[in-house]
Amino acid sequence: MAFAGALVPWSAGADVADTRPIVYLTFDDGPSADGVTDEILDLLAQYGAKATFFVTGQRVRHNGSKIPEIMYGGHAIGNHTYSHVNLRNTSSEEVVKELKAAGDEISRAGGPPLTCFRPPFGATDNRVNSISAELGMTPVAWSLDTRDWQPSVFSLEIFETLDRSRDGSVVLMHDGPAKRSKTLVALADWMAVAAHRYQFRALPECQSYGAGEQFALLDDQELDLNVEPETLQSLLLKLQSYRFVLQSEAAREETPVLGGVQQLTAKLDVR
Ligand SMILES: [Zn+2]
Repeated sequence: MAFAGALVPWSAGADVADTRPIVYLTFDDGPSADGVTDEILDLLAQYGAKATFFVTGQRVRHNGSKIPEIMYGGHAIGNHTYSHVNLRNTSSEEVVKELKAAGDEISRAGGPPLTCFRPPFGATDNRVNSISAELGMTPVAWSLDTRDWQPSVFSLEIFETLDRSRDGSVVLMHDGPAKRSKTLVALADWMAVAAHRYQFRALPECQSYGAGEQFALLDDQELDLNVEPETLQSLLLKLQSYRFVLQSEAAREETPVLGGVQQLTAKLDVR
């Protein structure tokens, strides 16, 4: 997935006049480096669809560059714990650690502060929910489970589950780490015949950066360290009108300008 080099204004793309049923596509367990996240993003972009990615800290640690790409697509991000543990069987202290560590990893990758979480295996209870509430996150479940992670489930069944989407459906699918060809085939086939009947939005609980807000995506070219001081100055001024400043992986490796930009990022991220 290619980055546009320019500063890009962003909006959730919600059309108030659109009365089609709203479907919330969700993808758990990513992001993945083997192209699955990219393929999902490309497919969604093809239909102008927005979705929600419930990522684990562990996966983000290895594939952090996908976080800006997900945000760049206008999708929401949710917390899926650091190591995909069953929170119901986890001590309160560990629940806090799992959620915070995931949030930290996501923010290190350039992600927004998170406002929602999805408990792995859907395993939660009042204790876990109140801990997440204290951390500012709403638990989010699903209403349609494609069971796409099960070896016995084929793409036709995933297609059929997708086709049961109604207004307000929250559809559970999976991103990496495993190969997701069934999910991708089913989703591509279904979008091809059904996408025009629905509007696909990111879960409202998860939109910590919302409609009307803007972010800037910088690539390494814009962070060229050899730019004139005036150019750098005007770039930094320009960035101040953006709420989030995302950097590509390559850009993050560049150091001298990064210092200034990172400070600015921190300033812009303050809510
Ligand atoms: Zn999961």
